[in-house]
Amino acid sequence: MAIDSDKVVTIAYRLLDSEGNVLEVASAKEPLAYLHGHANIFPALEVELAGREVGDKLSVKLQADQAYGQRRENAIERVPVKYLGRTGKGKLRTGSVVRYRADDEIIEGTVVKLGKFAADVDTNHPLAGQDLQFDIRVIDVRDASAEEIAHGHAHGPGGHHHH
Ligand code: ZN
Repeated sequence: MAIDSDKVVTIAYRLLDSEGNVLEVASAKEPLAYLHGHANIFPALEVELAGREVGDKLSVKLQADQAYGQRRENAIERVPVKYLGRTGKGKLRTGSVVRYRADDEIIEGTVVKLGKFAADVDTNHPLAGQDLQFDIRVIDVRDASAEEIAHGHAHGPGGHHHH
């Protein structure tokens, strides 16, 4: 079965930066499942995956504009420390990745300066401005259920678990 719209595609991948450093791994034991054609992953990745089959391996280079975009200037926000949620463990410090709510949006950023009551948070995505490479292996391709298509994402292992 070839990858096409409304297929649930399971992939293992390694994400590398332009210098070959591994940034993220989804192994065959803990792969990613996504619904093809529903903007679950970067559009440029979908283009490369379309038509592939189980067992296919591919290496895809994405320019920053095709991935997390360019770094924005003036993306530093001052946020009261009490509103900052942590994404990792340990004490809040410069370099910590944090989340906070602004209006109805969850903003993720990196602390660049920490005061007693407020922190300056760089709201650029940590990988903004970077060219990336995905080394991908296609593990499974199946038809999506009507429910998955209605939700716009994959369910089950590697997909969403909100039911
Ligand atoms: Zn769902």
